[in-house]
Amino acid sequence: MYQVILERDDCTMCGHCVEIDETKFNFDEDDRAMIIGAQREDNVDELTVEESEIYEEAEENCTGQCIEVFEED
Ligand code: SF4
Repeated sequence: MYQVILERDDCTMCGHCVEIDETKFNFDEDDRAMIIGAQREDNVDELTVEESEIYEEAEENCTGQCIEVFEED
């Protein structure tokens, strides 16, 4: 399992994550990106996923460097 984090305060609204997969990322009402299905606390979205590939691609292409993917035990 993998944990995906999106620090929304650092989002530049470039749209790369949404372009990569709009079923996993979208823009919220404040025009910053969100992880679909995530829990939000202190403007950080967190989601546990089984497949990390798309999220890692978004991490690599995130201009705000605000997406991170961690492998969980
Ligand atoms: S790729 Fe990063 S900076 Fe760009 S919209 Fe998505 S979260 Fe925001």
